[in-house]
Amino acid sequence: MMAVRAMTAGGPASLSRFRGALVAAVLGDCVGGEFEGAEEVPMERVLQHLNSLDETKGTGNLDYSDDTAMARCVVRSILAHAGYDERDMAHRFAKEYGESPDRGYGTGVVHVLKKLSSSHLSDVYQPARDQFNGRGSFGNGGAMRAAPFALAFPKLADVRRFARLGAMLTHSCSLGYNGAVLQALAVHLSLQGALDLPQQFISRLITEMEDVESDDMSRKDARILKEAEKPFCDRLHRVRDLMDRSKVSIEEVISELGNGIAALHSVPTAIFCVLHCLEPRECLPENYGGLERTIAYSLALGGDTDTIACMAGAIAGAHYGIEAIPQSWINCCEGAEDADVTAERLHVLYHQSPRGGGSGTEEPTREDASKCQSGRSNGTKKKARTE
Ligand SMILES: [Mg+2]
Repeated sequence: MMAVRAMTAGGPASLSRFRGALVAAVLGDCVGGEFEGAEEVPMERVLQHLNSLDETKGTGNLDYSDDTAMARCVVRSILAHAGYDERDMAHRFAKEYGESPDRGYGTGVVHVLKKLSSSHLSDVYQPARDQFNGRGSFGNGGAMRAAPFALAFPKLADVRRFARLGAMLTHSCSLGYNGAVLQALAVHLSLQGALDLPQQFISRLITEMEDVESDDMSRKDARILKEAEKPFCDRLHRVRDLMDRSKVSIEEVISELGNGIAALHSVPTAIFCVLHCLEPRECLPENYGGLERTIAYSLALGGDTDTIACMAGAIAGAHYGIEAIPQSWINCCEGAEDADVTAERLHVLYHQSPRGGGSGTEEPTREDASKCQSGRSNGTKKKARTE
């Protein structure tokens, strides 16, 4: 694949990239809700849905779901503490759920959020560890809210560390929190302009995940779940294979990478959506730019469309910048304006240095990780959205 240069995003870590990442994540969540859980989504239906956004002239009529609700908590917590504070973030998750429980949370995570609301809790990581008899969750709930970590910490080591810890507040299985690390790293690299060289981008992600997945817990979880030795690396190699092919069908993408609620079946998928849509595609309108293509393509995969489009949106938005997002689309999404404002504040924080975590910097341990299970509802999600 040739180098594809973003025309308007500005230099590495520009304000446009920050705004693009956060706003496109909200956009993906809001427009993705329409197709969530659908097994087959014809592209015509996707384009119809996206065209209707232009016609309504934007009234914030598409509600955001748990993806955005929790990401907003992450952003606000980081801004309030100029870093990561585990107790504060956990408290915000619980409070947000208490105030607005109908955002489509999975049944598993609801138990965790209810426990996190207790003021007597001494270890905020414990409720997630207790999930499924100590097996923990490998759902994509940690990954869906991971982008802000890349927008808060300029150092890659910090992005890795805090994305992991932030995910472990609800997802204690390595196949859950490593997915969050991968998503945050993808946003981090995109923010630096790394998607100008797609092959190097994917190679870099593989190299990083080789290291992330080399610890004992990740290896043990992979063995127990009968996955490849390093499950996310294995998927990223598949992403690279699919990138190298001139034509690939949506069915092949789903069968190779998945479109489900497990982090393993959705984070590499979101990354592929971004890479695949760097160039014009036959199935997508010629007048679409790369960001529009990415969102449309993510929806056409079906399955966990809101989360996959949200994650792909964050990575793509960090590459193309805010100017690439149609204003009429932004206007339709609840929370997009707020994301735009907070992106600016994160941009300021990011460019202040030196910086690390706040008070919560201790590595949590997990006693029993013998088995893992998705913390979100099984199979096809049925979510009660606020509509
Ligand atoms: Mg959702």
